[in-house]
Amino acid sequence: PPFPVYLDGWVTRGFGRGSKDLGCPTANLPDSSIAPYAETLSTGVYFGFARVLDQRSATRSSTTSAFPTSSSSNDSKNEHDGVFPMVMSIGWNPFYNNDTRTAEVHVLHTYPSDFYGKQLRVVMLGFIRPEYNYGSMDALIADINTDKLVALNSVSSPNPSASSTTTETTAAA
Ligand code: ADP
Ligand code: MG
Repeated sequence: PPFPVYLDGWVTRGFGRGSKDLGCPTANLPDSSIAPYAETLSTGVYFGFARVLDQRSATRSSTTSAFPTSSSSNDSKNEHDGVFPMVMSIGWNPFYNNDTRTAEVHVLHTYPSDFYGKQLRVVMLGFIRPEYNYGSMDALIADINTDKLVALNSVSSPNPSASSTTTETTAAA
């Protein structure tokens, strides 16, 4: 597809498959976020930038009454603020008989807390690799770590898409 591709949506709860145990929490975007790109985005791993917005979805606004506070005063400060590199996967969701794509975003930043229900805005800048099946957890973790390095190197490259194939050199950098 023609990059950049912009996605945003409310971060939804996943299956809790223990991605935090793997050191790689992935924030799920709702199906509606990628639906417009169903034809153009192939499955695989992408890189770019992400930002968590200081807003909450529906639940909070229904309780705010006649005295709405500005969004920034709901929390003492926006502890999720900032634009950071991200690496994301687009894949088929087995839960829906593989007819729904999922988009999961790992932000290359250590946040002080979770941000379920907040809005995540993403700009995809390039493709890293297709989706693979793994015979072992170790192989999966190794590839995830390489993906993170490729993403970091790619976003700091003057020509982002050019570095996506140089896995070995970027991993060593
Ligand atoms: P789930 O199955 O609900 O997606 P994960 O173990 O994948 O659970 O954790 C994802 C959640 O972790 C995100 O929704 C977000 O609230 C939180 N989180 C904290 N740090 C990050 C990060 N750096 N990147 C993505 N999500 C993060
Ligand atoms: Mg996840």
